[in-house]
Amino acid sequence: MPGINSSLLRHLKQPERFAALDRVARQGDRWDGRVFRVSNPSTGELLAELPDMGVEQTRIAIDRAHVAQAEWAARTARDRSDTLWRWHQLILDHTDDLAAILTAEMGKPLPEAVSEVSHAAAYLQWYAEEANRIYGETISAPSTDRRMLVIKQPIGVVGTITPWNFPASMVARKISPALAAGCAIVLKPAEQTPLVAGAMFALAAEAGFPDGVVNLIYASDGAAVGRELCSNRKVRKISFTGSTEVGRLLMRQCSDQVKKVSLELGGNAPFIVFDDADVDAAVDGAIQAKFRNAGQTCVSANRLYVQSGVHDEFAAKFTARVRSLSVGDGFEPGIAIGPLIDTQALVKIEAHIADAIQKGGAICCGGRQAGHGGTFFEPTVLTDITSEMLLAQEETFGPLAPIIRFEDPDQVVREANDTIYGLAAYFYASNLKRVWHVAEKLEYGMIGINTGRMSSEAAPFGGMKQSGIGREGSRHGLEEYLEMKYLCMGGL
Ligand code: ADP
Repeated sequence: MPGINSSLLRHLKQPERFAALDRVARQGDRWDGRVFRVSNPSTGELLAELPDMGVEQTRIAIDRAHVAQAEWAARTARDRSDTLWRWHQLILDHTDDLAAILTAEMGKPLPEAVSEVSHAAAYLQWYAEEANRIYGETISAPSTDRRMLVIKQPIGVVGTITPWNFPASMVARKISPALAAGCAIVLKPAEQTPLVAGAMFALAAEAGFPDGVVNLIYASDGAAVGRELCSNRKVRKISFTGSTEVGRLLMRQCSDQVKKVSLELGGNAPFIVFDDADVDAAVDGAIQAKFRNAGQTCVSANRLYVQSGVHDEFAAKFTARVRSLSVGDGFEPGIAIGPLIDTQALVKIEAHIADAIQKGGAICCGGRQAGHGGTFFEPTVLTDITSEMLLAQEETFGPLAPIIRFEDPDQVVREANDTIYGLAAYFYASNLKRVWHVAEKLEYGMIGINTGRMSSEAAPFGGMKQSGIGREGSRHGLEEYLEMKYLCMGGL
């Protein structure tokens, strides 16, 4: 039978409040009795068995969302905003428990989980405010007998699929603008990390969203749910964050109905340190951009290019800092690097290191699994890296920092751009002319200049090239959930 295990509940301040997470998605729906397991990647402990939903439950959720959407869209913007505010407050009030659920199912250090929950709450706050600021426009008509204007309306039911690496903030980032715009949503969280989404949905019910406006699908088979969301005509838009491979597939599946998509996909972020950079600041930035979430973020620095004048100083200072990062269970104090999400992630990082060593790379620190029984890997720095190595071409998604020495500033920008991805890039420099030149030449949706951290609810997050379509966060994130309608009134 499904249920939440004591190995999760013992971490919570209010276990009674979250003890029924297995029922959050199931209310009243037909369910065939199949379950799937959610485990703690640090310890392997079973956290929960959840009802495993499939196509039929997805269809029921879509039907329910379709009915609820009309009523939700007909409310005043102020009303939608007030409900989002209540949800925001409930999330803040339960930060500790949400963060504990997140650390238990995903592994990240508890302080990072707390910071993620406050980031999730910040999206709710931002879109509670933006809900009141949906504007249209009037146009000066080319003839005097007509008036022309543009109104914005909610796109309709939105299917959303989220990944495991930021299981709370991705949920908030997708569904808060959709709800602000007047859409209803059906969300399928990643099978590894569905519990924090379940806890957020339990709080959404308390916040007072009408029945059917927010719908959660727990499922172990993302593909089946994804096919239904893409092929069901009642769903007007898909918003997905995850791998480029699955993003391409969803886009193909949506093409039959010319369904709108927002995709936030993989990256291969360059992090460039020029000779005129503040090296200590660059080391700080690289630690954040590389090792946050154990390197498991789509904006993780994947290739560190360092100009020859500061290369050795940077490599020495950076390696010293990396050596001091402690690896372990995210619930233990002082831990900087939690486990990787699964054994496949270990296989990938080991393959990248072996390929680099075989082609002449050198290990400065780390390079091995860190023991502790879970999927832990030592934070690793490699030098003597070249762009032919696998780790420079593919996203590692782990705590591996390869340093590539460069001489020519123009050549490094060409190399940085020589990838199918275009999500995030970072660089450190002080010469203003260089700063503008490089910022304009890099083909990336987001550029961190003298900073290793740039995500914010106030800024448009998203990529160019095969890193995705559309933006999340900021006023632009709201537009993704609005249709533009042109009204032309004649005979005046
Ligand atoms: P990762 O490799 O990082 O897990 P994925 O793109 O596979 O990234 O997963 C991101 C999200 O997409 C998860 O919620 C997962 O269940 C879902 N997913 C995986 N495969 C498919 C698919 N074929 N169709 C729809 N969703 C999918």
